[in-house]
Amino acid sequence: MSPGEIDRDVYDITIVGGGPAGLFATFYSGIRNMKTKLIEASPYLGGQLATLYPDKYIYDVPGYTKILAQELVKKLEEQALQFNPTIRLNEKVIAIRRLGEKLIELETTKGLHYSKTVLLTTGAGAISMKKLGIPSVERFEGKGVYYAVTNKWAFRDKKVMIVGGGDSAIDWALNLKDIASEVILVHRRTVFRAQEAKVMEVFHSNVRMLVPYVIKDAHGTESLESVTLINVETGEEITLKVDALIPQIGYEIDNSIYKSWGLDVDERGVKVNGRMETNLPGVFAAGDVASPIDSIKLSLITIGFSQAIIAVNCAKHYIDPSAPVFPGHTAKLRL
Ligand code: NAP
Repeated sequence: MSPGEIDRDVYDITIVGGGPAGLFATFYSGIRNMKTKLIEASPYLGGQLATLYPDKYIYDVPGYTKILAQELVKKLEEQALQFNPTIRLNEKVIAIRRLGEKLIELETTKGLHYSKTVLLTTGAGAISMKKLGIPSVERFEGKGVYYAVTNKWAFRDKKVMIVGGGDSAIDWALNLKDIASEVILVHRRTVFRAQEAKVMEVFHSNVRMLVPYVIKDAHGTESLESVTLINVETGEEITLKVDALIPQIGYEIDNSIYKSWGLDVDERGVKVNGRMETNLPGVFAAGDVASPIDSIKLSLITIGFSQAIIAVNCAKHYIDPSAPVFPGHTAKLRL
């Protein structure tokens, strides 16, 4: 699509965001015989898996004891492309407008698209990694301080310090423990908020755990050379030589764009009901962007997959009320 172009073809479903939930939704809408378009802002598919941690093993995808994020993206892409969906890369959706009961206009950085339904699978969107906010640390960003790891082999035989007590920090400790010469995990509390078995695995591994500590200062000339930490209970300070510091202290999500599209949002994302419907008829959301009303939110890939299936099935039924929500064994060949 060239800038300013209008694609007047009306699709059954337009999926916004090509991360795992969007890719799986693309496959599943093919299964439901829906005319499908996927629009992704970046030049490639895969979402966070491709941009933030292609090299990281994921341990909680059914059927795999572990799988590299980039490998999972490859498999999801193969699956998604089976029914020849239209894929638009490098194109960011900047507005959606309901023009009629089953007609939605999507305005992108390249033009206009039309669809009967829209499924938002934008993940955490344009996420910004939370920074430690310590000037001496931020000075070394890219020169020893890394908020994202795209090539774990760059840390081979290096002394690496990871900060955080969530799944990201724990996952990186597990991923780097046999590559780096030493992994030190720093967390400000003695309680972790990551999956228990993984915390136990780290605890019983060669990873050195420093709790409850926070980073106070970073030192070096051209690049990071050492870090000073402070024990939050005793006030004791220690300085350790490290080659790399990887803070994994969460991320911030900007929901303002969805609000401007007329969507109801809360601090967790775009509000959805049990059918993954937003407050705008015909607009659905699944995966990390969705905030299920009156339910828990789990930012897990598998939850995104399940929500994608619910959303696509409900979108199918929304377009054609005679089509069952659940295809089950009802698909009949009409000759
Ligand atoms: P997170 O769950 O928000 O954890 C952030 C961690 O950093 C917390 O332990 C927090 O400490 C600590 N922290 C925050 N600000 C800090 C600061 N200024 N200084 C020191 N420590 C600080 O972030 P995440 O680990 O990136 O995970 C984000 C979401 O993605 C979560 O829902 C997570 O479950 C999910 N995720 C899942 C997987 C998986 O299932 N395989 C992998 C990665 C992420 P406190 O605990 O003291 O607040």
